Amino acid sequence: MKKHLKLTFTRLVFVSLILLSGCSKQTDDVNKVTEVLLQGNTMGTTYHVKIVATEQQVADKNVHADIDALLKQVNQQMSTYIPDSELSRFNKNTSTEPVQISDGLRRVIAESIRLGKLSGGKLDITVGPLVNLWGFGPDLRPDKIPSPEVLTATRKRIGLDYLTLKGNMLRKAIPDLYVDLSTTAKGYGVDKVADFIEAQGFKNYLVEIGGEMRLKGFKHTGELWAVAIEKPVSEERSVQDIILPKDNAIATSGDYRNYFEVDGQRFSHIIDPDTGKPINHKLVSVTVIAPSSMTADGLSTTLMVMGEEKGLAFANQHDIAALFISKSEHGFVEESTVKFVPYLK
Ligand code: ADP
Ligand code: MG
Repeated sequence: MKKHLKLTFTRLVFVSLILLSGCSKQTDDVNKVTEVLLQGNTMGTTYHVKIVATEQQVADKNVHADIDALLKQVNQQMSTYIPDSELSRFNKNTSTEPVQISDGLRRVIAESIRLGKLSGGKLDITVGPLVNLWGFGPDLRPDKIPSPEVLTATRKRIGLDYLTLKGNMLRKAIPDLYVDLSTTAKGYGVDKVADFIEAQGFKNYLVEIGGEMRLKGFKHTGELWAVAIEKPVSEERSVQDIILPKDNAIATSGDYRNYFEVDGQRFSHIIDPDTGKPINHKLVSVTVIAPSSMTADGLSTTLMVMGEEKGLAFANQHDIAALFISKSEHGFVEESTVKFVPYLK
């Protein structure tokens, strides 16, 4: 029996990374060193960049326009929301012959496959049809929970074994394989922008896209960049932890951000490839610190899929700096790997 249920989609931000450095100072003196703030929209979200420099230095190098152009290029390569992006064209192409791909796309797919294999398939960039089936992709939202039959049929199209990358040649083994890079592309965008800023000669900066961040050096006050993790509650905005990531990237994955509810049951946008269903456990968020934003982004989602126990064991085993926040009867419980401890203020 197919039961039609009314779904409510909610997008809430309970835990988010917020910067403690305050707003960049607006100054009349364009030659005074300050935190120059550049912001805009990309990948269905916002970006913020802070560069410790003079307004004049940043203006002279045309940094803002170049960042916009860079992000536009990344989006045009790997967005599944842009019908003619390079990735969308690969997804629509039913040929099982190898296809030459851009260097950017190769890097993100290579890292995603590496993390996929490392995690025993918990991170799986071919999981897209399931993401869409559960209503979180570019397709229309469903108005019911998928039937077991549809779920079984969809799962047949999923698996990293169907995707092969050799150099810049990408091949799908089945015509309707669909690659979704939502979990690593934002981080890659952060890395691209950070590398670009670095190449312009700036030594102290912060780059953030939709909550994924990479930072380097110091604020204009000489202090380290500090990042706050908010308490995962909606009623108040208070700080759970203050983190000093040093010259690293920091990424948080959580099911509080993007989910829908049916009859009070919450469905996450993160799918466990082993069940074909949204994850359902007590883990509220996972924060990962790593040199690369792409890796931190992918790993935070990977650990989120694994859940509290398996995730913590995996992170310890692979020397990952990770902080886990879980729900319990007594409120929120935090656990971290040994490698994360030095970053806690
Ligand atoms: P979060 O910040 O919560 O980790 P991300 O945007 O980084 O969110 O990644 C979640 C997105 O990745 C989902 O919206 C979906 O498109 C995709 N996704 C869901 N489950 C998986 C999975 N097991 N492996 C890879 N990608 C996934
Ligand atoms: Mg992620």
